[in-house]
Formats: sequence, C-alpha cells, structure tokens
Amino acid sequence: MTLRELIETTKLYLFDLDGTLYLSEDVFPFSAELLKEIKARGARYMYITNNSSKSGPDYVAKMTRLGIESTEDEFISSAFVTTKYMSENYADKCIYLCGTQSLKNQFLSAGLCVTDSTEKADCIVIGSDTELTFKKIDDVCRLLYEKPNITYIATNPDPICPTEYGNMPDCGAIVDMIFTATGKMPIYIGKPSPLMAEFSMQICGCEREETVVIGDRLDTDIDCGLAADTKTLLVYSGFATPEMYENAEKKPDLAIADCGVLLQVMKKMR
Ligand SMILES: [Mg+2]
Repeated sequence: MTLRELIETTKLYLFDLDGTLYLSEDVFPFSAELLKEIKARGARYMYITNNSSKSGPDYVAKMTRLGIESTEDEFISSAFVTTKYMSENYADKCIYLCGTQSLKNQFLSAGLCVTDSTEKADCIVIGSDTELTFKKIDDVCRLLYEKPNITYIATNPDPICPTEYGNMPDCGAIVDMIFTATGKMPIYIGKPSPLMAEFSMQICGCEREETVVIGDRLDTDIDCGLAADTKTLLVYSGFATPEMYENAEKKPDLAIADCGVLLQVMKKMR
C-alpha cells in the first residue's frame, strides 16, 4: 500500500497523541494543519490514548494549550473505553477502583457502583493512578487472594508515562507490582486491545477498511490497529525507530518519519 492509496481509502484517522501529534508539551509544527486538511477532505479523526489519568476536558485543555482546537467527543481514552466496557458488562457489580478521582467521577457519571470496601467489591479496576496509595495496593492484593475468581481489569498496559523530566510509572507498572505479590494479571482495555479502535469506528459509523490507526509504538498503537483489522501507519517521531520496525514480527502497512509526511502527500492530492 502507498501513502496515496491509504489516504484515498480512509474516512477515519485514529491518532495516538504523545509521540504522534506532540511530544510531551511540544506540538509538532504540522499537527494543526494536518487535522484541518483531514476535515477539508471530508474525512474524520479521533484521538485514541491509553492514558487514563485524564478525562475529556483535561485533553481539550491540553490541546488548546498546544494550539489545536478540539472537542471532548474527539478523545477516546482508555478511561472512556473502560467506563463503557464496565457499563456494558458489569453494570450491576461493585468496583474497587485503584485510579484517579477523575476516573472515579467518570465511573460514577455512568451510574457504576464504586466502593472502597474490599468486602463489597466484585471487580477490580486499575488505572493510571497518579493518586496511588499503598493502601490501594494492599486492598487489591487482599482481594486477589480472598476472592480468587474476582474480575480483574486494567485500563492500559503502558509501564511508563513520559513527563517533562523523564518517565514516571504508569498503569502497567502498578499492575507489575501487584503481579509480583500475587502472580495475577488483569485483562487490559487500552491499546493493543482492539477495543479502543472498535469503539471509535462504532461511534463514527466507519468500517475497518476505511479506518487507519496512526501511532509511534508498535506494541500498542500498531498492534491495536492490527487486532482491530484496520489499516496501520507507524511514525518515527516518538518511541519507535526504523530498527524496531525491521525487527518487528507484526508490521504496520506503512512507516513514515512523522505525520508531516502524511500532510505533504495530502496536499499534493488536493
Ligand atoms: Mg504515543
């Protein structure tokens, strides 16, 4: 597949954020123009992000700070998809949440039952918990021992989250800590699970063959697109390198330096 063919057949662009449209607090120079160009072509885009510590308004505020206009409904976060997943499958259950107040509010707004009591809990959900306490870790371990068949879910497998100074532990690292103690692993909702891409396509009414997942990581973004059977486009503006692409077992349809390359081809096709 060429980039031109990919553009011709795509109605929905699913963008990863960090490493794809910006790097931490630095927006790439082509991002705003690319998004406008996609709209001008009559196509749509959504942002699919594994970070579950923030909600829609937080993302809109960040994009505004970076000079990109956005609306809350353009963001599909692992928190949003986890909320939908819990509502569809565990609406009548009580959730022990190891996550931020922001994620708790999203659960409560969806009418889900959230409890701090290990007695009452029927499910565990782990998120990108920037408000983590040892009590929560202790409670989760206790639940996994005392209720061995309890439903155990985590928003995203990422071990680290980039910050302005370097990296901090993300959901995957919290899960690893619990695994060290209990030997139990959760079901992950975020990328590389296909759920994020599938929900986005469902919302936009687009088919797999009309959709592309674009991101800077093979093990999350590209694997999510491959699992959802969409087209896939890897960019080298964040985590992945050409060496990683060469060594990857499962490869994307295309790999380019950055999304600026995509914009240049779109402009030629006007
Ligand atoms: Mg990324």
